[in-house]
Amino acid sequence: MDDNWAAADGLHHFIGNRWVVAASGQTLDVIDPSDGRPFAKIARGNSADVDAAVRAAQRAFGEFGDGAWGRLSAAERGRLLARLAARVAECGEELARLESRTTGKPLRQGRADAAALARYFEYYGGAADKLHGATIPYQPGMTVLTIREPHGVTGHIIPWNYPLQIFGRSVGAALAAGNACVVKPAEDACLSLLRVAELAAEVGLPDGALNIVTGLGAEAGAALAAHPGIDHLSFTGSPATGTRVAQAAAQHHCPVTLELGGKSPQIVFADADLDAAVAVIVNAIVQNAGQTCSAGSRLLGERPIYEELLARVGDAMSRLRVGPALADLDVGPLIRHSQLQRVQQYLSQARADGIALAAQGRIVDDAPPAGFYQAPALLRDVPASHRIAQEEIFGPVLAAMPFDTEAEALAIANGTPYGLVAGVWTRDGARQLRLARKLACGQVFVNNYGAGGGIELPFGGVKSSGYGREKGFEALAAFTRLKTVAIRHG
Ligand code: ADP
Repeated sequence: MDDNWAAADGLHHFIGNRWVVAASGQTLDVIDPSDGRPFAKIARGNSADVDAAVRAAQRAFGEFGDGAWGRLSAAERGRLLARLAARVAECGEELARLESRTTGKPLRQGRADAAALARYFEYYGGAADKLHGATIPYQPGMTVLTIREPHGVTGHIIPWNYPLQIFGRSVGAALAAGNACVVKPAEDACLSLLRVAELAAEVGLPDGALNIVTGLGAEAGAALAAHPGIDHLSFTGSPATGTRVAQAAAQHHCPVTLELGGKSPQIVFADADLDAAVAVIVNAIVQNAGQTCSAGSRLLGERPIYEELLARVGDAMSRLRVGPALADLDVGPLIRHSQLQRVQQYLSQARADGIALAAQGRIVDDAPPAGFYQAPALLRDVPASHRIAQEEIFGPVLAAMPFDTEAEALAIANGTPYGLVAGVWTRDGARQLRLARKLACGQVFVNNYGAGGGIELPFGGVKSSGYGREKGFEALAAFTRLKTVAIRHG
């Protein structure tokens, strides 16, 4: 198995542990963002393919949870996930290369993502037989108990920025809880997931427990969200698409978990340890070229250290080298040409509005000219209400602004439509706790920042960043439904 695994005749859907040609016979090109050239083909799925995958998953689950997958004990599911974790770890380098090649991320990030996928299967495999209900004190002569049941068939719409990780967090938890899964990865970056599905079949996941249908969002994705056979849907992507997906799911009263991105602030107070903060702040915006839901894309600096902070972050940023994914430099290309144009439009708007560029990284001379490269940029004194400080750019653009008081920092931090993650840098313990309580978001990091990290840590947003929590033990609740059984026995 090598980088050409996907190159030969193109790849198909993976349904019921078999490669299945698209019902339409059509394919889509997969573009390498490092050189702008097509290098693989995937199936262009439509509603017929989605229907076949849902039916395979329903068979695996069984009408009463008695299918080949549904009837396994929790311990057996856990063991299979542990085997899959080990197989993913064995194939880590291959998965990392596929991930880097398709997403454009530097190889060491691809390796980190493959390692995280193995950890997700390990973690959720271990959790499978530790999920249980309760007994509830009620009336004399009665016993009331709750049973945690899987939903049945879960749908998973995955974006292109972290396919392995986002697949791991949602499919890992769903399988551990006993659901059969139908996955629609992003058209730009799905090769690694097709390979993982093959590995899952190899380690013995029964036919239909895990199915992947590739294709366009408006076709295969929309068909999955609307399919009445889907009992729970997880979506990670943009707010606009999330709204469409939730509307489609609502037509058949299907519960949804939405993770929709952010505009996460890094709040740096004058007493912060800048030596520790600077490298973390830079990494949090350039990791995956800023195409990270939890990217720390706003830098709020307390006035007395604002200039020093800008100088130090700017210095680190100007030393970053941008180049091809597999060259494993500091930053890779953006996912596609339209994304590059979008980021460049934001930067032109900033220029037109007189926002100063404080520092910029460098695209290496031998980067292929047709690749989608964007040098990381630090913009200074960005008004908190400007588009650059309000909208998710999804590129390596850090918007810096000063503040004078804690109250002002909090107002700026909470003053966007999003609320996913926040970073707080201060040595003052009371302030750490005050802010942790008052920040409107799903995760707060104090004196560290975990863009995309921490598989054990519940993750999700408020406001336009979405709802529901993934990762950690908490995620398992979303992939089960509670049944209450009340027995009168006298
Ligand atoms: P982007 O615009 O950056 O690709 P999206 O939020 O549109 O981000 O995409 C995230 C995922 O949602 C991808 O797998 C994509 O194919 C899928 N998708 C896009 N449009 C729809 C839709 N209308 N219904 C369901 N899924 C969709």
